[in-house]
Amino acid sequence: MAAHEKVDVAIVGAGASGSVFAAVMAGQGKKVVILEQGPDWQLKDLISSDIWGRRVKPAGGPFILEGKHPVSYGNQGGWGVGGAALHYFANFPRLLPNDFRIKSEHNRAHDWPIAYEDVAPYYDKVAREVGVSGDAKAEEIWRPAGEPYPMPPMKTFRNGDIWLKGFEAAGIRMVPAPVGMNSVAFKGRPACIYDGWCHVGCPIGALANPLVTYLGDARKAGAEVRPFSTVTRVLTNDTGARVTGVEYYDRSGERQVQEASAVVLAAWAAQNPRIMLNSASGKHANGLANASGLVGKYLMTHFGSSTFAIFDEDVENHMGTTGAQYMSYERYGKTSHKDAFGSTFIVAGFALKTNDLGGIANARLDLFGPDLDAFMRRAARGLTRINAFGEEMPNIENRVELIADKDAFGMPLARMTHTYDKDAEAVWNANLDEGVKVARAAGAKEVWAARGAMPTIHLMGGTIMGTDAGNSVVNSYGPDPRDCQSVRGGTRDFRHRRRLQPDLHHLRLVAARGRASCGQLEGGRGVTPTAEHLSLRCRRRRATKESSNSAEEWCPGRSSTYPAYFSNLIPSYKRSMAGDRISYQNPLFQAAQQSDMALSTNFFLIHKIYL
Ligand SMILES: Cc1cc2nc3c(=O)[nH]c(=O)nc-3n(C[C@H](O)[C@H](O)[C@H](O)COP(=O)(O)OP(=O)(O)OC[C@H]3O[C@@H](n4cnc5c(N)ncnc54)[C@H](O)[C@@H]3O)c2cc1C
Ligand code: SF4
Repeated sequence: MAAHEKVDVAIVGAGASGSVFAAVMAGQGKKVVILEQGPDWQLKDLISSDIWGRRVKPAGGPFILEGKHPVSYGNQGGWGVGGAALHYFANFPRLLPNDFRIKSEHNRAHDWPIAYEDVAPYYDKVAREVGVSGDAKAEEIWRPAGEPYPMPPMKTFRNGDIWLKGFEAAGIRMVPAPVGMNSVAFKGRPACIYDGWCHVGCPIGALANPLVTYLGDARKAGAEVRPFSTVTRVLTNDTGARVTGVEYYDRSGERQVQEASAVVLAAWAAQNPRIMLNSASGKHANGLANASGLVGKYLMTHFGSSTFAIFDEDVENHMGTTGAQYMSYERYGKTSHKDAFGSTFIVAGFALKTNDLGGIANARLDLFGPDLDAFMRRAARGLTRINAFGEEMPNIENRVELIADKDAFGMPLARMTHTYDKDAEAVWNANLDEGVKVARAAGAKEVWAARGAMPTIHLMGGTIMGTDAGNSVVNSYGPDPRDCQSVRGGTRDFRHRRRLQPDLHHLRLVAARGRASCGQLEGGRGVTPTAEHLSLRCRRRRATKESSNSAEEWCPGRSSTYPAYFSNLIPSYKRSMAGDRISYQNPLFQAAQQSDMALSTNFFLIHKIYL
């Protein structure tokens, strides 16, 4: 084991969440190390190819997926520096005030311990810092006024514009979608060229990914990024009252210890609980910050209701971005749909690729052979789609928990259990029904709703934010940096918090993804998560600033990625044992990975049509 100099702050995960902390702490002169399990991606590594793009999907030990609606996390997570936001769609909607008081207004779920007004200034700040294009004034038909976005809206294309007539007929107002993309050159980064490859990473830096935003700032301020470093435990001192650093495994599988005065967990919504639960010790028998027993509980996702339509004209579906051109909060009220409960956020206008995530070939999963061939010919010019993201209510049974099987580093694997309730199913169905009506009113000649398995998008939850240690894992600032007295819930009131049984010093939790990253509150939300968790990060970093005393070679372990990614489709991957360690491998995906062939038979049809 190499000796590592003790640092002020060790951050686990170099995604959107970890990057904000790294930027602000390094900017204040703290010695910061970011431990990232994947490669140190640079913009020049990014290749606009769906086949290449598989390299930025999650790898490492897989999650075992259970429940009626298993979490398809492989499609949404990240691997390596930049995390998921290296290749996200960069839609930047906000929560609305009704999300924060869902219990008070509807007697459902939980109220947040903060209000929209607490976060709103940070939405504006993040937009200024990372670069958001949009029309804030237009959005203010649904939300309180804020600052204008720093860039005008993005261009629109026929694949977005063509839907407007249908939305109007349904009484749904659409406005330019706010996106973390450059409509014009911004802070030395070029304007978008609308080639629609955002979902595998934007090689020119027009997309606001961590590399060109907060992580770039952090590096300039001296933060060290240590790739291929997989953190397995947060370490504490003998009394269990103070964090002392983290245990991690380096690229060659050697155990390492990084001592730190403070630790920030920013390893995403499922990995944070896994690490916290695996950090159990004599003083923390149930895992860190788990006095409430709620670590890993209330896992949540969004569902998307996709409606596809083929129009009798060239809708330029190769043009645009994979974000959205238009958006609407018209169905964001929790009771917008009869006999259903939960918000819906509607988007329209995306570039479609031939295959893979959101691709043309995947628009009709029921077709094979000549039927698929014929469909692809019809769809190549005229296919476009809309999507409605829906909100699910928190359910304590949806959870992350450790299991006995272990990964390559001897760390217990985790199981994710997830099932939607009847309200979620009702919102999903209502949105699909409405989407079909919108498409018909828009004049489409072929229309269908994507009614397969109910999708699970944007993993959130797992470290609930609340008002005291009995009902939550963290408070609204995470463990408060001014005294770092307790990581388990706590309150925003300093004196009151002092009276809590001290649990742990200097662990900060940035639990990633949506619903208040520094703790996932199970209140309400129906929008994509990044703007929200960057804003919460920024809100908390202000508290940090005010504090005077606080705190490639390609991916090893790659083969274990694919079973997670495709496990909804092909559940039969095999487990191979080496001692007590298991690696999950599916022969089909291994072969595909090694040969770099596309996995879908659709690929060959695409060749036929396009090449
Ligand atoms: C295709 C796609 C489209 C999306 N579109 C949108 C969108 O339009 N709008 C939106 O708001 N959100 C979107 N998202 C979601 C958004 O990207 C994520 O919510 C956000 O990036 C999560 O950031 P994070 O830092 O919390 O977690 P991550 O980005 O997952 O970062 C966590 C990092 O920690 C690393 N890590 C994990 N475990 C360990 C460990 N044990 N040791 C060391 N490192 C570890 C991971 O490799 C990763 O780099 C999308 C995501 C994807 C993939
Ligand atoms: S469409 Fe724009 S943001 Fe997306 S990859 Fe291309 S240039 Fe980058």
